[in-house]
Amino acid sequence: MQCDNNDIRPITLAGFTGQREVVDRVENAITAAIIKKDAFPHTIMSGPPGLGKTTLASIIANEMDVPLIKIMATAIKNPSDIESILAKISNSGYNTNGEIINRDLLIPSVIFIDEIHRLPSLITELLHTVLEDNLISLKKKNYESQSNEAQEYWVPRFTLVGATNYMGQLPKPFLDRFALHFNFEYYSLEDIVKVLYNSSKSLGYFINDEGILEIAKRSRGIPRIANRFLSLSNDYTIAKTKKLDTEINFEFVNGMFKKEGIDEIGLDKRDRKALYYLSTIPRPIGSKSLAQAIDEDEDTLENSIEPYLVKLGFMVRTPQGRYITEEGKEYLGIINRGRLLPKKQQGDVK
Ligand code: ADP
Repeated sequence: MQCDNNDIRPITLAGFTGQREVVDRVENAITAAIIKKDAFPHTIMSGPPGLGKTTLASIIANEMDVPLIKIMATAIKNPSDIESILAKISNSGYNTNGEIINRDLLIPSVIFIDEIHRLPSLITELLHTVLEDNLISLKKKNYESQSNEAQEYWVPRFTLVGATNYMGQLPKPFLDRFALHFNFEYYSLEDIVKVLYNSSKSLGYFINDEGILEIAKRSRGIPRIANRFLSLSNDYTIAKTKKLDTEINFEFVNGMFKKEGIDEIGLDKRDRKALYYLSTIPRPIGSKSLAQAIDEDEDTLENSIEPYLVKLGFMVRTPQGRYITEEGKEYLGIINRGRLLPKKQQGDVK
């Protein structure tokens, strides 16, 4: 999981900017769950990193007034790992047979599993009955017969929120057991501006409108990136003025971007390296080979580098491979179709 500044994470639904369709559906589901005195429904959130999936899961737990348990799918390897996570859910409100005796006492935790597509199939299959009937089948040693027998145990109500950018890799029977599917979109420029205003207010930064707009323009529609640029702009301003509390203006923001090698449209050295490499290859290339050629892991390439290049129309992804477009070549200055484009940055690796 990425490490973000927790002070600027919105903690209420009202404070969560953008993703209106998702937020509306979350709001309805929270209202229904509270009236029914039940858990929030099991939910899958899909979309690229940095768009607010973890933040929204914490908001759901907060609004439902229940604990949040965060875990990476790669940390779950065996049934015993699931068993110990489920053991953290409160059994308040139940009798020893697993029957609800007082709904007012239920505390249905939110369990957030990041990169849920990485769960082994053994675990997704084990979760089928958990998600559907609140029952888990576990093999425990029977000391009398000296055998390992599977037994069913009841599990208190809870909410599983799974986040992924590879929804297609989830087995269909597993996916079908999640009532809500949310697809996170890239944020509009206006929403990123709003995120930046809120973040600078929470962090006590002084930044003018031109500074905010310039950061927003280069943030690729991703709040995590916008917040990172905001923090870098603040550090740059302090380093240049040797003072705290100087207003962050367009010049400082621009200076920071120059120093970081980020151009006017938000591309950095890694993006340009990928694009340069594509421009040298005469035919479509697979993601593994491209990742190797530019020294990135495949996940970073597919989730953080390619989506923006595709959005800009600089490269195309097909089942046969990736290739650079005419727009991409024009951006690199390899061809000129008479349009004005940002200049290449110095120090780029070809
Ligand atoms: P993801 O889980 O999708 O990778 P996160 O929830 O970790 O993304 O969000 C990354 C950062 O962006 C966090 O610091 C969070 O505060 C900020 N952020 C994300 N979405 C929003 C939003 N809608 N409003 C305000 N800040 C947001």
